[in-house]
Amino acid sequence: LYGRMMQMPLLISSLITHAARHAGDTEIVTRRVEGPLHRSSWSQVEQRARRFAQALQRLGCESGDRVATLAWNTDRHLEIYYATSGSQLVCHTINPRLFPQQIAWIANDAADKVLCFDLNLLPLVEQLAPQLGTVRHFVLMTDRAHMPAQSAVPNLLCYEELLAAEDGRYAWPSFDEQCASSLCYSSGTTGNPKGALYSHRSTVLHAYAAALPDAMAASACDVILPAVPMFHVNAWGLPYTAALVGCKLVLPGPKLDGASLYELFEGEKVTFSAGVPTLWLGLMEHVRSRGLEFSTFRRTVIGGSACPPALMRALEEYGVHVIHAWGMTEMSPLGTLARLQPKHATLPAAERHRLLEKQGKAIYGVDIDVINDAHEVLPWDSQQAGHLVARGPWVIERYWNEDSSPLVEVKDHGAWFPTGDVATMDADGFMQITDRSKDVVKSGGEWISSIELENIAMAHPAVKEAAVIAATHPVWDERPLLLAQLKPGASVTREELLSFFKGRIAHWQTPDDVVFVDELPHTATGKLSKLTLRGKYKDWLIQ
Ligand code: ADP
Repeated sequence: LYGRMMQMPLLISSLITHAARHAGDTEIVTRRVEGPLHRSSWSQVEQRARRFAQALQRLGCESGDRVATLAWNTDRHLEIYYATSGSQLVCHTINPRLFPQQIAWIANDAADKVLCFDLNLLPLVEQLAPQLGTVRHFVLMTDRAHMPAQSAVPNLLCYEELLAAEDGRYAWPSFDEQCASSLCYSSGTTGNPKGALYSHRSTVLHAYAAALPDAMAASACDVILPAVPMFHVNAWGLPYTAALVGCKLVLPGPKLDGASLYELFEGEKVTFSAGVPTLWLGLMEHVRSRGLEFSTFRRTVIGGSACPPALMRALEEYGVHVIHAWGMTEMSPLGTLARLQPKHATLPAAERHRLLEKQGKAIYGVDIDVINDAHEVLPWDSQQAGHLVARGPWVIERYWNEDSSPLVEVKDHGAWFPTGDVATMDADGFMQITDRSKDVVKSGGEWISSIELENIAMAHPAVKEAAVIAATHPVWDERPLLLAQLKPGASVTREELLSFFKGRIAHWQTPDDVVFVDELPHTATGKLSKLTLRGKYKDWLIQ
């Protein structure tokens, strides 16, 4: 017996149509790559997306073709998101901060047909173009006035001209919600990057779940500034969630330094934002050093790597509630968020903080568990760390261009996606990441959490950022080595920093040594690059 409800597929076009019809004049504010602030609205974004969909058709794009972007968070990028997915093409966002060879590898692997890119990335694309064998059209996301007189990019097209040539009389097509909508590559911290190919259904369901009160709590009354780039797992779904709730969106363009962000937060009355920890370190340094305050900014999701408790406290002192979240490219990305339950209301503040510092609870649509090496489920006792596995309608089943499935069989529980993370679960389902499996320090058979040590080091007032890696040790196989970048003008000795661990962690887990560095390396998504650090300092303790 079937229900008697309308058969309407969950399509990404329904998000932008909804926003245009029901929040049409709500603003989309962009700091454009060309410089000035640009004001648009959901209805304008939708109209222009229709025109670009027409233009892509005119360029010969057919259902399922990949349209790549190398672009910052802007209104034009937002239009391309909706134009491509809405017309049954695949929006393939590429991170411009990757090495050029990596970008070319990814574009070729995806067999991208069109590449849209921002003005300040023209030199990069000029260098890349000869290697992009499948790209037939290059679209510079700017207007005629900013087009270069000549360029090494063949047949360079102008985005605004393409739009102007169309009449916008285009109806978003209806098709199967399981069709591919967008493609993101994981940053390939292990081997070559791999593509996660999302569907319309997975994206819309994820957008719904992200908006819920115990997730991001997005509302039409919010002003959302996605500080996380639109090339990093679709800005964690915010371009979709913002359309779903019909709120004002503020897009910061290429400028993510503390001063530029702060100006937008205040000028546009931003209430909610999201980004990786390093980004907030920069913003807080700016706010602190100038004695500034936030007048409307009230909450932020921090994820992508573990949020140091010291950063949470710092933001909270300024009235910003931090929602710690965990996810990954393969999970669209949201998996868990740290939100308290009613029973925690009476806990002492320190205990509440400890819960909020964890990566949190699974949201509906994702299930998670921890397993041992024999693929047996471990107890949720907050003690035993195991391999974190996940499943759900927005978790990938297999990678783009790969036949074999990455899923693992969990004893008596079916197939799950192995996240590569190591975590504990407590009886209430609060998950805590102790490490990525490849970052764990294995000291004489015992596991030491590099994240826990980094969090302690970063609580020291002189430390700006810290990284702990497993260094080779003649007796214990591996021992933790701390690399620390100090705050400008601050000083602390090796002995002082090591003694700071006393009483905060078991003595045997204390790092063996400290290396002070001028700058810690980060990956293209702004995470600590432990791969680089391991390459450089792995043998530090045996030299
Ligand atoms: P990549 O795998 O390419 O680095 P992702 O952005 O998909 O890109 O990274 C996902 C990984 O980031 C997770 O598997 C986990 O190791 C880490 N991560 C994400 N959020 C958190 C968090 N809140 N705490 C600790 N680690 C996190």
